[in-house]
Amino acid sequence: MFDESKKLFEEAKKYIVGGVNSPVRAFKSVGIDPIFIKNAKGAYLYSEDDRQFIDYVSSFGPNILGHANNTIVNKVKAALENGFTYGACTKAEVDLAKRIVETFDSVELTRFVNSGTEAVMSAIRLARGFTQRENCLKFKGCYHGHYDGMLVGAGSGAATFGVPTSKGVIEDIAKHTLICEYNDFDAVKKIFQDYGHTIACVIVEPIAANMGVVLPKPGFLQFLRDITYQYNSLLIFDEVITGFRACYGGIQTLENIKPDLTILGKIIGGGFPLAMYGGNRDIMSLVSPEGPVYQAGTLSGNPIAVQAGIATLDMLKNTNPYNQLKLNTQILVSRTMGLANTYDIPLSENSFGSCFTFFFTENKPTNYPEVLKSNERLFKNFFLGMIKRGIYFAPSQFEANFLSTAHTKKDIEITINAAEEIFKELK
Ligand code: PLP
Repeated sequence: MFDESKKLFEEAKKYIVGGVNSPVRAFKSVGIDPIFIKNAKGAYLYSEDDRQFIDYVSSFGPNILGHANNTIVNKVKAALENGFTYGACTKAEVDLAKRIVETFDSVELTRFVNSGTEAVMSAIRLARGFTQRENCLKFKGCYHGHYDGMLVGAGSGAATFGVPTSKGVIEDIAKHTLICEYNDFDAVKKIFQDYGHTIACVIVEPIAANMGVVLPKPGFLQFLRDITYQYNSLLIFDEVITGFRACYGGIQTLENIKPDLTILGKIIGGGFPLAMYGGNRDIMSLVSPEGPVYQAGTLSGNPIAVQAGIATLDMLKNTNPYNQLKLNTQILVSRTMGLANTYDIPLSENSFGSCFTFFFTENKPTNYPEVLKSNERLFKNFFLGMIKRGIYFAPSQFEANFLSTAHTKKDIEITINAAEEIFKELK
């Protein structure tokens, strides 16, 4: 069915390790070769096999306005004429930073970088520089990019010091990452009782989206805010996925919680490589050239990416599509859940704004071990059934799906009908 993609994958493997430039693109967990994309417009991807797909992956989050949105295309075209990168200051980067500072109460100063990974790495370095402490607490199942200190899992038994989850990450780095289960109030309390005075920061996805979507339990984020205050640790909200996804702002805006540092990426670059870390003046003033915490970048604040980011944020602000996006997502999710019930398929879902994950379990997962209970076989068959019918869902149970403003009621209807056909076969 995807003959041209298959051929290209064979070719790709000769020159690119594993044939891909990011592991999830290899479709390993769904057991087919990856699909090669030729172009995209609005809600649709078009493959090298001349197939069309309704896209719910959305490049894993940036394309909230759909692919190749005309306004962004025009802004980027105009920017290209002015040169691609200067290694110097621009008015546009100030304009983008101003929009973010005016939107996020917790952010007084920003620093732009090229990827979420870089922003996380820099924010954690800053937290360590500010607090003069070495340890960082993260949650199992949350993903914060591929910086060494974040490629860490829980040690065995009662141990809380992290161990590397990737070869090449040295134990001396991993042991400075402490690990707790997401939503586990008691484990966090215990870790702070034992090691609070060593913890520079807690980093968390305020809604987890990298073990599939998992929502914080009521009070969990405020609890993290309170305990970090109590122990003089910094709280970092990694809003790379959640930033500008559910409202014009972040989960911190909706929950009225002020983290010390915020990380944004994906949507703020409008599909181009751009991310940011930011916080209050006291903390951010430690970053070079103001202070002693070093961080730099040849392409940081790249003029093309910045223009795409400004265009995206301005459209989101002016059109405020968030209620409609949420409504469309709820229609898709709730009708699919209803059908699963009719056909006796064990299905649950977690969603926020225009972001959702279906899990093949009876109960909504609240942490990583519960996500792992999702039936792999059913997930895989659901994915394969969808892709066959021209619907491109995330190729892993541990990812989120996204709606954009380009998805129409008809796209959603087609998706729901496809789900029904698959549920009939899955039984
Ligand atoms: N943080 C979160 C919450 C993410 O979802 C991701 C990527 O998916 C990252 C950080 C890393 O961002 P990047 O892939 O731009 O390095």
